[in-house]
Amino acid sequence: MLYPSIAAAEAALEKRWAWPNFRVSELACRCGGRFCDGAYWHAPDFLDRLQRLRAACGRPLIVSSAHRCPLWNAAVGGAPLSRHKMMAVDVLVAGHERQDLRAMAEAAGFTGLGLAQRFLHLDTRPRPAVWFYPGSFDLWQT
Ligand SMILES: [Zn+2]
Repeated sequence: MLYPSIAAAEAALEKRWAWPNFRVSELACRCGGRFCDGAYWHAPDFLDRLQRLRAACGRPLIVSSAHRCPLWNAAVGGAPLSRHKMMAVDVLVAGHERQDLRAMAEAAGFTGLGLAQRFLHLDTRPRPAVWFYPGSFDLWQT
C-alpha cells in the first residue's frame, strides 16, 4: 500500500509497526522532496523478510535505496518496471561476507537478488532472478 509521505505512513502504521530494526524514514523515497513528499510503499511481507535477514545477519543493514517514486526512479536510472517503484531495497555490503549475505537473503525469502559491487538489491518478485551489475561478477564468486 502506498502512503504519500513519511509522516502519513508513520501516523497510520505506528501502532502496528513490527519490524524493530527498520523505520519508515529509511524505506521511503529518497528524492528529498523533489518529486514527492517521501512516498512509502508498505508491504508487511517484504518487511518480514527484511527483518528475518537482519536477525540472521546479526548486524545492521544499511539501506541505500528502497521505495522510489516514479520520477526519482527515472532520475537515478532505475529500470522502468523496477521493483523499487513498489518495494525493494539496496543494502550496502559493509563488512558483511558477500556469500553469507546472499545466502541469508535467499533463506529469508527474497526472490530477486541483484549483486552489485557495493550493495545487494533485494526484492520479492514472483519469478526468482539473480543478476549482476557491471563490474560486480568477480566480486561475488567464492
Ligand atoms: Zn520521491
